[in-house]
Amino acid sequence: MTRHRYSTPMPDSLRHLLRAGQHPARAVACPWCAAAEHRPCVMKTNQRQLPLPHPARISAWVRGVACCPLCQVEPGVECHLDGRPLPQGAVHPARETEAQETT
Ligand SMILES: [Zn+2]
Ligand SMILES: [Zn+2]
Repeated sequence: MTRHRYSTPMPDSLRHLLRAGQHPARAVACPWCAAAEHRPCVMKTNQRQLPLPHPARISAWVRGVACCPLCQVEPGVECHLDGRPLPQGAVHPARETEAQETT
C-alpha cells in the first residue's frame, strides 16, 4: 500500500497567496513612499524594502478596484461618512474585504 505524504490538498487561500506572490495593492503606485507600480514599498528613512504595502497604498488600491458596500460609491470614488471623505483617503474595512475577494 502506497501512501503519499504530500498528497494533502493545499487550502485555497494559501494557494492563492502563493500564486499571487505579492500583495495585490502593488498593482498601484504608493502615495506614501512613492514606490512605482509593482515595486515593493520602502521605508522612507533607509529605503529598506517592506514585505507589505503601506496602508495608504492598500487604500489607494481598494479605492481603484472595489465599490464600497457601506457608502455605495463606485471604484475611484473616496469613501465618505456623513458627507465627508474619510481622513487620509482611508476606506471602510468592508470595501477592503470586497477588493480582496474580487482579485
Ligand atoms: Zn509605500
Ligand atoms: Zn465606504
